[in-house]
Amino acid sequence: MILMGAWTVIVASHRCIHDEIRKTVERPVLSTKPELYDAKLGRRLSQTPWSPIRFRLVYKLDDSPLGMTEKNFLQTKLVPNAANFWSNILKVKRPAKLLVEANCTHVWSDKSCARVDAENWCGGVIPIDPKYVAAHSYCSTGPGSDCGTTSAGPGITDADYVLFVTATASASCESTGATGSTSTLAYATSCREDSQDRPIMGYVNFCPGAVNVNASEYHRQHRVALHEFAHALGFSAQSWPRFRTPSGEPRTSPLSKGPYTCADGSTQEIYRPGDTTVKRLSMRGKMAHFMVTPRVRSVARTYFQCDRLPGVELEDAAKYCLGSHWDERTMYDELMSPVAQTHREGNRLSAFTLALFEDSGWYMPDYQYAEKMLFGVGAGCNFVEKKCVSPETHTALATPVNTFCDTSGEQSCTYDRRACGYCAMGNYVSAIPAPFRYFSDNTLGGTLRQLDYCPVYSGYTNRLCTDISNNDANQLRGNLYSADSFCAKSTLLDDGYVPNSVARYNCFNMTCDPSSRKIFVTLDRQHIPSPKTNVILTCQSDGEVLSNVPGFSGEFHCPEWYTICGLSHDFTSGFNVTDLTSGSTGADEEQTEQLSSGDKIGYNVPFMSITWVMLTAYCSHVDGA
Ligand SMILES: [Zn+2]
Repeated sequence: MILMGAWTVIVASHRCIHDEIRKTVERPVLSTKPELYDAKLGRRLSQTPWSPIRFRLVYKLDDSPLGMTEKNFLQTKLVPNAANFWSNILKVKRPAKLLVEANCTHVWSDKSCARVDAENWCGGVIPIDPKYVAAHSYCSTGPGSDCGTTSAGPGITDADYVLFVTATASASCESTGATGSTSTLAYATSCREDSQDRPIMGYVNFCPGAVNVNASEYHRQHRVALHEFAHALGFSAQSWPRFRTPSGEPRTSPLSKGPYTCADGSTQEIYRPGDTTVKRLSMRGKMAHFMVTPRVRSVARTYFQCDRLPGVELEDAAKYCLGSHWDERTMYDELMSPVAQTHREGNRLSAFTLALFEDSGWYMPDYQYAEKMLFGVGAGCNFVEKKCVSPETHTALATPVNTFCDTSGEQSCTYDRRACGYCAMGNYVSAIPAPFRYFSDNTLGGTLRQLDYCPVYSGYTNRLCTDISNNDANQLRGNLYSADSFCAKSTLLDDGYVPNSVARYNCFNMTCDPSSRKIFVTLDRQHIPSPKTNVILTCQSDGEVLSNVPGFSGEFHCPEWYTICGLSHDFTSGFNVTDLTSGSTGADEEQTEQLSSGDKIGYNVPFMSITWVMLTAYCSHVDGA
């Protein structure tokens, strides 16, 4: 969070450095992975049942500058909660005994190992206790001569993943985006895989300056931790070529390093995922990489209601060849998209990410834990295939509502109706890349590169519907800020005042009746001197306009049922409600008076008007990381 001018601005996006970190993680590429699923022991992989993943959390906090309170918070709350969360969702084939490969540093021409490192490291900075390290054979003076085997550690039988947890003030923690306005909360990567290429060891580093024990910050940090765990579990470009089929065969075979056309069009030598896993395709006037595995494709076709989608786009604004996140333009509110939402809910762990874990061949997810996304839901092929704003007519896609926009500063609700906002656009210092030019002025565009420069409605911090501190004693429009409030268009005004037909966007308390698909809107009158009698409206259908409201002049425009009731549902099914809701109200925004035209505060990303510097390389992690 940073201060800008007179207002507090929540920085929604945080620099995700997963791709930078994974490049630096040395892997024992010459080593032979130990067989953890020994056929002789009757542990054939195909016969091994799916069981909830168990984490061995190894805290290495001695050299952390954090105080005891913060260390305690990491060890007793944040990290165990994230581990439990994923343990509930993902099942694995448990190894008979978990051991990781020793690092063979030299091989003979017949690929046999010549020399084995005495020390092993995870991420280059964390020593791996010899107890986790498997035996490795070697031949010192030539193939087949002076051969021996290093001694094996005992291994562990009560965990399926060893996660080292650190909190050091590394250089990576200090790195900031182009504006210098963002910080890294955490980063994570895997460092060892099993014989099936499933990541079985990794680390997460929580940047000390970003660890915050305040209850109001917990939900966001929890989301960050979930995001980082996902990277450590294999949601990473490094894993794409190592995915397995349901029967355990490599999806990409043979695994080979070679020239690959990267997201930015350059060519790099990388381990290339096969085209039944990742495909490079033309989309919206640019080339994009798609995750095309079967479950992911199926979830995409259902979610967007488009039967010809090849799969789901991956992030193409990444610094490295292939992105380790979903594409922001289509997956804006997904947990593994590269930019955070700072809404009460945060980015959502949806069926998309669970499907990807299933398609890895390493995990069996429990889809009942999938949270509902809203961005682009049911919006059809156009939402994915057409540009957000037509370069010919300069008009934004009309479906879905409240999503893309084309008029700078125009007022509306945000796509999820959790805030009242404005169309956030600005001029860049130079021309926007050709595929993303939507206006006759080719420097004009939305505030995020990751969003293909698409203008979206960005919420005002002082108009977050869930922030009760936004309430004041002069709310004449029946509006209310509460945990169950959503933004809607309305001209309602207390009868005691001169009617004003200019539509406003305000937050109203709403509840749902799932059986009748009705929305009940409570017009609040507790925040006016009198009368103190609330009025209940009933919305029967999406877009219905209600007038003749007792005590009010004007009209009320009903929102879409799914937006209001889909989200409410998320909070009562399958999730640890305590974790999700603790401290989610009482936000820390500055108070301001009623909305005015100069009141432009984005919770989405700081909007810097003309000649603002573009933000680069941020990552999801609800307000962190
Ligand atoms: Zn990330």
